[in-house]
Amino acid sequence: MRNIFLSFFTILLMSSCLIAQDSYLNAKAEDSLKVYQNNDFYEVQYFEEPDTKQKPKNVIVFIGDGMGVSHVFASLTANKGELYLKNFKHIGFQTTASATNYITDSAAAGTALSTGTKTYDAAVGVNTDTIALENIRVKLEEKGLATGVVSTSAITHATPAAFVAHQPYRYMYEAIAADFLKTNIDLFIGGGYDHFTKREDGRNLVDELKDKGYQIVTKTKDLDKVKSGKLAALVANEHTPTVLDGRGNMLETATETAIRVLSNDNDGFFVMIEASQIDWGGHANSTPYIVSETLDLDKAVGKALAFAAQNKETLIIVTADHETGGMAVTGGNLQTGKVEAQYVWGNHTALMVPVFAFGPGADKFTGIYDNTDIPKKILELIEQ
Ligand code: MG
Ligand code: ZN
Repeated sequence: MRNIFLSFFTILLMSSCLIAQDSYLNAKAEDSLKVYQNNDFYEVQYFEEPDTKQKPKNVIVFIGDGMGVSHVFASLTANKGELYLKNFKHIGFQTTASATNYITDSAAAGTALSTGTKTYDAAVGVNTDTIALENIRVKLEEKGLATGVVSTSAITHATPAAFVAHQPYRYMYEAIAADFLKTNIDLFIGGGYDHFTKREDGRNLVDELKDKGYQIVTKTKDLDKVKSGKLAALVANEHTPTVLDGRGNMLETATETAIRVLSNDNDGFFVMIEASQIDWGGHANSTPYIVSETLDLDKAVGKALAFAAQNKETLIIVTADHETGGMAVTGGNLQTGKVEAQYVWGNHTALMVPVFAFGPGADKFTGIYDNTDIPKKILELIEQ
């Protein structure tokens, strides 16, 4: 009996070794998520950069959540060597550590980018003592600029929340939604309808927004109708779908809408536009997810470039909050748009992230500096 048990155990061990060996040998086939064959190519337009020595009147900040250089280069490969990001001539890097960790989370990084102050991970717009910090959006609002935030996640998620709310913990979505009502923000477009309506305190914040004079939009296709005035667009109950799952051109449309509506203000405007889900593709170690979301961001950047090239008073910044996945581009073809990547793990990394700048003031964003320097640089440019 003992022998039978032992041989059974031996066979089990051997077969598990065989399985292990098989999966190693078949790693490529099983790791289909590492490879992406793009089929949705687009032509990139090139624009003349306005004089960088002028003072910017408008500022558009794009944040690709989790977007490192590999995410950008994989996407450049997938679109056969072309990206709107290639319009940018002033490029730098920012370091991302939070007050408490060498590797930041999105809330602390978002707060650094919005307030110029380092804080602990999971903090939204508050310092290490949980005291509210004034953010760049409010500072510019006080100077008369129209302001907004756009996101492909719930608008209450860490990154957009850092430009609006002040809460000690990023997952307090209902408290963050209520913070929107305490501001004079002119426009916000993203998901998160449920955090405004299905609440423990019984408040219906969408009704309250209406009472405050906001136009309410719940479908991306209705954004085109909005020409002016205050806008609260909550186009998904939680997060918007992925590009691969049919989000369509929501981010491009939201970017155009934000520019069209906010540029009515003669004092200028500030908007933060987040491509949230590059990070989620990084966590999933999925090249298709990362690349499709990054290309989606790039197309939205194209809309901003078209405006800025004509307007000549608009500074565009494209950056990230941190890198996600430890992504490395390990194969690709610039003629076919196929790209392959490997990942270190399913988490953020400490790596510095790129900063692309275009237009008046863009030359201030070259070099290596800290994430907290970005809002300071923007404010200096507006105040000069
Ligand atoms: Mg985010
Ligand atoms: Zn993340």
